[in-house]
Amino acid sequence: MAADIRVFTCLSDNFGYLIHDPATGATASVDAPEAGPIIRQLEAAGWTLTDILITHHHHDHVGAVAELKQKYGCRVVAPHDKTTAIADVDLRVGHGDVIKVGELLARVLETPGHTLDHVSYVFDADKAVFAADTLFSVGCGRVFEGTYPMMWDSLLKLRALPDDFRLYCGHEYTASNVKFALTVDGDNEALKARAAEVTRLRAANESTIPSLLGDEKQTNVFLRADDPAVAIKLRMKGATAEQVFGELRERKNKS
Ligand SMILES: [Zn+2]
Repeated sequence: MAADIRVFTCLSDNFGYLIHDPATGATASVDAPEAGPIIRQLEAAGWTLTDILITHHHHDHVGAVAELKQKYGCRVVAPHDKTTAIADVDLRVGHGDVIKVGELLARVLETPGHTLDHVSYVFDADKAVFAADTLFSVGCGRVFEGTYPMMWDSLLKLRALPDDFRLYCGHEYTASNVKFALTVDGDNEALKARAAEVTRLRAANESTIPSLLGDEKQTNVFLRADDPAVAIKLRMKGATAEQVFGELRERKNKS
């Protein structure tokens, strides 16, 4: 049976995500930014939280773990990196691990760069990837703990997923990302179309997520750092993908 996925806002611009298995009643929260909105969504749907799938250790992704665990007694799944301080972890996962949410299967991709511990969860049967702060719509996360080549390699892992997969990312940053992308890639027709769509969605106070991975491959300049045309736009003809990616990320940091 297909998973039921709910998207809502937590804190100021984090996304909350619930993924529910109708066959068994199991429900996972991807990250735990804020208890109140997650509990309200669960209660409105009549669901009980069985699992929390943590992507990385930043407070705006794990701040509500302890409260939710105490309330629901749910299992907490978190990345392998034990140097980080995530509360109440029951299961540590790494690359290639497959975890069950009821009968739903989630595959773990290690996607370090934003943090060293960052993982993404891929629900292949439902064509959904939860990439948190690695890949945003029309952008990518800041590289805090890793290196540019490490982050680029993580983006390649996500880019390798099929075009009809949906991207569920950690923050509603799409409008800001589009604004930056247009400064580099302003003649990209797919990006211009996405810009118009994002303007319409945000004006209606609607979420820009999920987006289709196939659209991200066309509109997201960070996923095209190995495209010679992007290097030329940056006046970096002949540069490596890692160098082009690093330059894009530096420019976005300053934008
Ligand atoms: Zn983060």
